[in-house]
Amino acid sequence: MKLDKKGLLIVMSGPSGVGKGTVRKSLFERTDHDMVFSVSMTTRAPRAGEVDGVDYYFVSKEEFEKRIQEGKFLEYAKFIDNYYGTPLDIVQEKLDAGEEVVLEIEVQGAMQVRKKCPDAVFIFIAPPSMKSLYDRLLLRGTESADVIKARYDKACKEVVMADFYDYIVVNDTVENAADKILAIVRAEHAKLARCIDGYNEIIKDRKAK
Ligand code: 5GP
Repeated sequence: MKLDKKGLLIVMSGPSGVGKGTVRKSLFERTDHDMVFSVSMTTRAPRAGEVDGVDYYFVSKEEFEKRIQEGKFLEYAKFIDNYYGTPLDIVQEKLDAGEEVVLEIEVQGAMQVRKKCPDAVFIFIAPPSMKSLYDRLLLRGTESADVIKARYDKACKEVVMADFYDYIVVNDTVENAADKILAIVRAEHAKLARCIDGYNEIIKDRKAK
């Protein structure tokens, strides 16, 4: 029985190459806990195999900047040379419907969400070592040497931001990381502040015997 009727806003961050996307996909394959992924908007070019509307909404810089002016993002940030942002209306709609919504965003964006949605849950995905992070960026083979270097430099700055988050999950194996995230989500639902209203509902017709 769920005492907390509202969906959680779950913010996952972590440096480029840490395997956030793989962990998230593993999380979404679990059939015992439904979550929805908030598809972000970006001005970055699609990588091979990425699908518009599934991985990202790919838009031009002009289109993105127009949406910033119209206040259509819950948060947005520039990462290396591109914009990335979370469409506000979709997230709002899902949360209102009681769904768990997962944002996979970088640190500056997460900080904006913390201000606007203080009861969101902030999870930092960390690498088991800095070497593993660099190796993964190289192995991914989707970027040029310059971009790999820029992403690794950025990652070195991002890993020290973990103390801004509520939880740190090391991606030693994808299964372990997904298990821990699910455990966090379940524990968050049992927090007093989230379930006190549901609990009061249960005990409202108590009678002394
Ligand atoms: P990538 O180009 O590797 O897909 O993403 C680069 C970085 O942007 C990653 O750290 C990713 O989590 C982050 N990102 C993706 N979508 C968003 C978003 O909507 N907002 C923010 N702030 N960052 C995002």
